[in-house]
Amino acid sequence: MRSITHFIHGAAQSRDGGRSADVLDPSTGAVQAQVLLGDAALLEDAVASARQAQPEWAAVNPQRRARVMFRFKELIEAHMDELAALLSSEHGKVIADAKGDVQRGLEVVEFACGIPHLLKGDYTQGAGPGIDVYSMRQPLGIVAGITPFNFPAMIPLWMGAVAIACGNAFILKPSERDPSVPVRLAELALEAGLPEGIFNVVHGDKEMVDAILDHPDIKAVSFVGSSDIANYVYARAAQNGKRAQCMGGAKNHGIILPDADMDQAVADIVGAAYGSAGERCMALPVVTPVGEATAQAFREKLVAAIETLRPGIPSDPQAQYGPLVTGQHKARVESYIQMAADEGAEIVVDGRGFSLQGYEEGFYLAPTLIDRVTPQMKSYQDEIFGPVLQILRAESFEEALSYPSQHQYGNGVAIFTRNGDYARRFAADVEVGMIGINVPIPVPVAYHSFGGWKRSGFGDLDQYGEDGVRFYTRTKKITQRWPTGGVVVDQSFVIPTMK
Ligand code: NAD
Repeated sequence: MRSITHFIHGAAQSRDGGRSADVLDPSTGAVQAQVLLGDAALLEDAVASARQAQPEWAAVNPQRRARVMFRFKELIEAHMDELAALLSSEHGKVIADAKGDVQRGLEVVEFACGIPHLLKGDYTQGAGPGIDVYSMRQPLGIVAGITPFNFPAMIPLWMGAVAIACGNAFILKPSERDPSVPVRLAELALEAGLPEGIFNVVHGDKEMVDAILDHPDIKAVSFVGSSDIANYVYARAAQNGKRAQCMGGAKNHGIILPDADMDQAVADIVGAAYGSAGERCMALPVVTPVGEATAQAFREKLVAAIETLRPGIPSDPQAQYGPLVTGQHKARVESYIQMAADEGAEIVVDGRGFSLQGYEEGFYLAPTLIDRVTPQMKSYQDEIFGPVLQILRAESFEEALSYPSQHQYGNGVAIFTRNGDYARRFAADVEVGMIGINVPIPVPVAYHSFGGWKRSGFGDLDQYGEDGVRFYTRTKKITQRWPTGGVVVDQSFVIPTMK
């Protein structure tokens, strides 16, 4: 059985705490590898390596650090097919979607190539008599990223590319369900010229996460995963004096106003709801059509669209999406379909019981559509994270606006309309972090920043973009005066002011 090892100081590291976990092939249901689960002692090795390497890396001038990022970008591009295949083999998403996963991470590497410009400080000449004030951005030192299973390339790169370009050493603890791509990315970064110890990968579960949260030399933790764990990581990191940005779960709504281009909205929603088997934090698992006629038209067209969908193995170019990540997760999603039925919702299309010929043990679930959901239902309140779309009908714009605003999650939302007044009001008033106007998956591009509200995001700085640079650096503010600026020997016991 293949063993997936840690990656510390530029080399595979197989010391473990005696524990390992199965890595599955979701297409077949078979165990394909064992990933080592590290402990605090293993983390200590990674921190020692980072501690040794980081000061020198921070002293490399930003243009030279950027050149490593340029080479890293080229290597990721050159290895795109290999990375996508490896990613699909452990996650299950179809190859084209796996390439999208790598590509969205690559775009953050492209952003990080501009780090010299991003790290420039401010300067005010003559802020007082002979006094200049300036600021500088400095790396934090050693920082860590803890990532979920659903984007094993994109999310490590959201964090790592920016953290490293800023001059930090980055320790990544990827999901133990699909850990191979993160290790491969660290190998490629080394090949790109990154010094040993600047990008270490440690595998593990809660034990390793806790070791990271408690390690005094790790100055910041970036987390993406489910909300309860995001909340836990945020609290424990903060208690230990660390910076933390912790992104959580989601339940994104798609609002359809009566004037929307319905064919376009259905095409957009079907991809956003069922793509990647619904295992995206920016998926659209709830649709809120406004008015009875809108709901009817949407439902009819959606049912027709669902009939053309079929899950398949990742290498099948005809398949729109692949299996769920594990059998356990599939069972959880199925239990939510049953819960919705028990709560009185209408199961319009039931994806349970689907079996893919030749892959009967794979974790496939056909698309499911549930109508007549109400805000009181637990199946609506919770994140399901599968190929399940719920319809929550609204009678007015105000009612539709209230649903995403009142939901515990506030990651993304989309509105489909031709009416600019409503769209503008919606964007201004909705209590959600990322808004799409006729855009189903409004993941901001790499030079903006990504982050949800409420239980979708704990912390005050978002991922990547300028917020990422702020998160991974701290500023120094310098107020300087030189003798030629007119120093007067004087004593003052009053706070200096500009009066
Ligand atoms: P998860 O919370 O199970 O795992 C995330 C990370 O936390 C993993 O590295 C895992 O090893 C670790 N972890 C798991 N249990 C832990 C525990 N008890 N204590 C400490 N650490 C623990 O999430 P997942 O299932 O891998 O990913 C899916 C979730 O991530 C969904 O809720 C999805 O919405 C969310 N997500 C959010 C965003 C976002 O940006 N908001 C993006 C992608 C995924």
